[in-house]
Amino acid sequence: MALIVQKFGGTSVATTDRIKNVAKRVARWKAQGHDIIVVPSAMSGETNRLIGLAREISANPDPRELDVIASTGEQVTIALLAMAMHEEGLQAKSYTGAQVRVLTDSTFTKARILQIDDERIRRDLAEGHVVVVAGFQGADENGNITTLGRGGSDTSAVALAAALKADECQIYTDVDGVYTTDPRVVPEARKLDTITFEEMLEMASLGSKVLQIRSVEFAGKYKVKLRVLSSFEDEGEGTLITVEEDKTMEQPIISGIAFNRDEAKLTILGVPDRPGIAYQILGPIADANIDVDMIIQNVGHDGSTDFSFTVNRADYNRALEVLKETATRMNARGVAGDNKTCKVSAVGVGMRSHPGIASKMFNALGAEGINIQMISTSEIKISVVIEEKYLELAVRVLHKAFGLEKAD
Ligand code: ADP
Ligand code: ASP
Ligand code: MG
Repeated sequence: MALIVQKFGGTSVATTDRIKNVAKRVARWKAQGHDIIVVPSAMSGETNRLIGLAREISANPDPRELDVIASTGEQVTIALLAMAMHEEGLQAKSYTGAQVRVLTDSTFTKARILQIDDERIRRDLAEGHVVVVAGFQGADENGNITTLGRGGSDTSAVALAAALKADECQIYTDVDGVYTTDPRVVPEARKLDTITFEEMLEMASLGSKVLQIRSVEFAGKYKVKLRVLSSFEDEGEGTLITVEEDKTMEQPIISGIAFNRDEAKLTILGVPDRPGIAYQILGPIADANIDVDMIIQNVGHDGSTDFSFTVNRADYNRALEVLKETATRMNARGVAGDNKTCKVSAVGVGMRSHPGIASKMFNALGAEGINIQMISTSEIKISVVIEEKYLELAVRVLHKAFGLEKAD
């Protein structure tokens, strides 16, 4: 007998029929004698709808109130799921995050889990209940409802698995595992049987939204056995996220291609090329609470230089305003912005021991006439910023260049 946490994403609970199917699936696991904690997301599209309602009232809603409304999507699915389980003859009880108590900090809309009270859950499990806990939410020390950022139910599930020392955390979604790239963009993408935490963390932070970044961080830190599986197919082992690189196998050089459409690029032109410039430009951006991703300072000539960086597209307008003020203050030649850019990355721990990956990547993109605007590398990834209209093409070309397609 094992203790298993099963998370079901929005598409897996999108209709009452699908909710009934989830209940049937849980009943089969329960019949095998396992203890089960189920963590559903809101029905697909529901969180967007709720946030949309808030924005109809206010262009800039109070984050505390935004969390009060956004968290209700999951409150609906926990109750429906528990009822569907009752129909299957199971004992089941649902709880919101605040009821359990999933204690978080007070950073509304992107709160971090600090602690989970496992007492109630353990008691219910011991009595034979399936425990259904709302994903995506918690409460701070003052009892305010918080949410964990978009896609946060993954993190709820992994955190529960860590707190209860579950044997496995299963993330059920609309694909049957983690692929070499998003299978919706490249149908030839191949499902991976395993991927290391390190690689999954890079893939997630570079845009592969199959798992929320924090869920992977949590699983790595607390050694949670984490698996991604299909909620629509009964067969299959999905993808296991592993702590260790599989030393017995020839490590592929590149494990996957990730991409992110939400990248926007800003450039300040003709600033003096002298110490302290980066701080003068990026300090006000940081003060405005805008995260900067890639940065390039071009080689100066005649004592002046251009300086470019990227931000999330949602922050583009604000970043542009701040940069214009900086440009005036610094007497710069001007400011340029482009919010039609994207980032494509190749990820793989095998890269460490194989030089020449970057040139292969640049060559493949160049052959298709795709201009690279910015480059950033680490030990296990290479990212490029390119025009958004080339995103799909670039992903396909790189997927092929690194031989990632299915064998058949
Ligand atoms: P859920 O609602 O179940 O949380 P998500 O939409 O958040 O589902 O995540 C699943 C989606 O992630 C898939 O439908 C797929 O389009 C996308 N995805 C992006 N990159 C990958 C990848 N490398 N492997 C598998 N799926 C990916
Ligand atoms: N319902 C939330 C969202 O749409 C959380 C999740 O799906 O994981 O972001
Ligand atoms: Mg998700």
